[in-house]
Amino acid sequence: MDIQAMDTLDIVVAGIGVAGSFALSSIFDELEVVGIDKREKPGHPVECGEIVPTKSEMKLLLPEVDELDDYSIFDIPKRFESNRTKYFCFVLPNGKSFDVEFEMHVVKRDEMIQTVAEESGKKLILKRRIVSLNNGNLKLDSGEEIKSRVVIAADGANSRIAKDLGVWKYDVVPAKQYVMEGVECDENTIYMYVGKEIAAGGYAWIIPKGNGVANVGVGFRKEFARLGDNIHKALDKFVKEYPHSSPMLKNAEIVSKIGAVVPVDLPLKKTVYDNVMLVGDAASMVISHVGAGIPTSMIAGKVAGEIASQYCLNGKPLERFEEEWRKRLLPAMERSYFIKRVWDVIGERDERINRVLSLASNKDMWKILRSQIPLKLRLSRFMLPLIPLLPF
Ligand SMILES: Cc1cc2nc3c(=O)[nH]c(=O)nc-3n(C[C@H](O)[C@H](O)[C@H](O)COP(=O)(O)OP(=O)(O)OC[C@H]3O[C@@H](n4cnc5c(N)ncnc54)[C@H](O)[C@@H]3O)c2cc1C
Repeated sequence: MDIQAMDTLDIVVAGIGVAGSFALSSIFDELEVVGIDKREKPGHPVECGEIVPTKSEMKLLLPEVDELDDYSIFDIPKRFESNRTKYFCFVLPNGKSFDVEFEMHVVKRDEMIQTVAEESGKKLILKRRIVSLNNGNLKLDSGEEIKSRVVIAADGANSRIAKDLGVWKYDVVPAKQYVMEGVECDENTIYMYVGKEIAAGGYAWIIPKGNGVANVGVGFRKEFARLGDNIHKALDKFVKEYPHSSPMLKNAEIVSKIGAVVPVDLPLKKTVYDNVMLVGDAASMVISHVGAGIPTSMIAGKVAGEIASQYCLNGKPLERFEEEWRKRLLPAMERSYFIKRVWDVIGERDERINRVLSLASNKDMWKILRSQIPLKLRLSRFMLPLIPLLPF
């Protein structure tokens, strides 16, 4: 495609991941639009655990999204699903576990992104890296510049565009993941582990994709780790030695490896800058206590595409995006961030995790996993400054 020959476009979607593909699919057909990504194939390779709550769970997780019943985007078709799980098993450092019902799709995230982007019918420009944002236009590594009336910045957690706007200030956590074959776990269950040895300041996971294949990974924050520990050692230990996980992984083989970061912060306070709308991880639109951003990016991408279209066709202000995504997503993000802040204090020491969570019930964990705040946790707000003074 000869980019230089293109006139000023209506909308450029910068980054064709979760938010970008759903933005492309909601942009009105009569507009001149392109999606740009540095990858050869949108969504490939997968850099994600790939779990998305089912639609009925989504109503509990994101109750402020009034239109969920009408959102067909969460009727995830079978062709994008590799497994459907029913439970979460949340494992403490002392091995105690909470088994909680929570229905999840394990999606084929790569195929979902690629298909949604391609079926949007919009032009896609691949294998081109955005190197800068200049006066609202995007400069590519090929030297070309793309002019557009609107830029939807969906370029992920390391957003070049957020950096160029000077707003890339959110906390991100490094994560490392293997796809493994020959994993011997209950394929109805997603396993989540906390503890300094294997996931300092974050958590580790086994997410069964079916037929013995699983995403096995850790989120790891160095500032919470013991001297000399790092994310590579942590994942190795989780796979080979950790008593609560390694028995399920001892016969498994690594098929592929990835490393990426996930935002774990509140979303940006401002997401529209002149003609640029920041969306998804680029604006830290995540459920931060579990580092989940697929559902929020799907919704925010869809809303961004609709608002950008209405701006181009009817002159309705782009700034409407600020209110529209916030009323749907911000309350859940704030509840989640509160849980994360409490967790940052409890999670400093394994003994503290074991003792504090011995007070939690399965019902409490049921709520916490859905970003709901149990009464005990709400009350702990007042105790929080005292927790670091405890002898454990
Ligand atoms: C290891 C890991 C596991 C995770 N597991 C889950 C999970 O199970 N469930 C969940 O809900 N969330 C999970 N997340 C978070 C989730 O993946 C993200 O929140 C979500 O993908 C954000 O979507 P996005 O569209 O904003 O960004 P992305 O999906 O990352 O898309 C960004 C796109 O922009 C492109 N891009 C970036 N920079 C440029 C550039 N300069 N030029 C051109 N293109 C560019 C990238 O190639 C990419 O295609 C996980 C994250 C990680 C790191």
